[in-house]
Amino acid sequence: MPRLVDKEETMTTIGFVGLGNMGSGIASNLMAGGHEIVAWNRSPGKVDDLVAKGARRAASAGAAFDAEVVFSMLADDAAIEAVIVASGALDAARPGATHVNLSTISISLARRLEALHRERGLGYVAAPVLGRPDAAAAGQLVILPAGDPAAVEKVRPLLELFARRVWPVGDEAYRANVIKLGCNFALAAMIETLGEAGALAAAHGVDPKDLFAVMTETLFAAPAYKTYAALIGERRFSPAGFAMPLGLKDVRLALQAGEEKHASLPIGSLLRDRFLEAIAHGDGELDWSALSLVSRRAAGLEA
Ligand code: NAP
Repeated sequence: MPRLVDKEETMTTIGFVGLGNMGSGIASNLMAGGHEIVAWNRSPGKVDDLVAKGARRAASAGAAFDAEVVFSMLADDAAIEAVIVASGALDAARPGATHVNLSTISISLARRLEALHRERGLGYVAAPVLGRPDAAAAGQLVILPAGDPAAVEKVRPLLELFARRVWPVGDEAYRANVIKLGCNFALAAMIETLGEAGALAAAHGVDPKDLFAVMTETLFAAPAYKTYAALIGERRFSPAGFAMPLGLKDVRLALQAGEEKHASLPIGSLLRDRFLEAIAHGDGELDWSALSLVSRRAAGLEA
């Protein structure tokens, strides 16, 4: 559970932009840590819960940037471009503020954001996270901060409020995004192989849960396999903890990052098509683990 801090000594005014599945739990943990939160979200209703707990509602994203530290947890590059860059929010930032960007974004935008902040004398920390919304709400994320070491140290006590582990990964922000994209590319590949193996079992009349139980207790006794084998075995795809379009986004970002350096990702290309197929089939609202339904359909099984 999050650790409480001494309010008198360490209370920080924190702007928070983006209260989706992940952001809402993280902002609650920062508030539970004794900090003042000034929150903004595109759909204003999502700010109500935080306001009821004592947060202030920001009239705009720019107003949320009038804070010592600003966290953002927006969906993708386009959302960040619109909300933080094009809106002028960075120009409205409090002098000397540090922005912690928790989203999974492209390497190119990570580099550009670092420069845009530097030009304005603002701190920038890329801090993508490992863990789903339940871990965010429980303060149990793994956080991968990177950027100017002084900025990382400044925000580290805040990151600890919603982390199982804070794992700094370098002095340049984009490094964190490279590692995060590598992790999510591998997770997507794992979901695909679990889906295919499960469909193989089911096609022979064997319950995929029996297969997954053996796998996750022996050969693949790892947290990610346990989490996703349970979701796929029980076909628990809704509500989406990590929605299908976000999975497609991350595979595309990994492919884009590979293309930039001529690093081929043949499995990434396959995954991109599998995601498109799932979304075209009407599964876009489901969790990305529903990618496994593509393999079931391909094996002639009921999805
Ligand atoms: P989410 O529930 O879909 O929330 C997305 C947030 O972005 C919402 O606040 C949404 O506002 C906002 N947004 C999207 N497009 C926007 C636009 N064009 N303009 C303004 N605001 C916009 O997503 P999430 O699951 O919290 O994920 C957030 C980030 O964390 C993503 O980069 C994701 O890859 C990453 N991540 C997610 C997980 C996970 O398991 N969910 C784990 C690790 C990392 P509205 O409320 O108005 O829609």
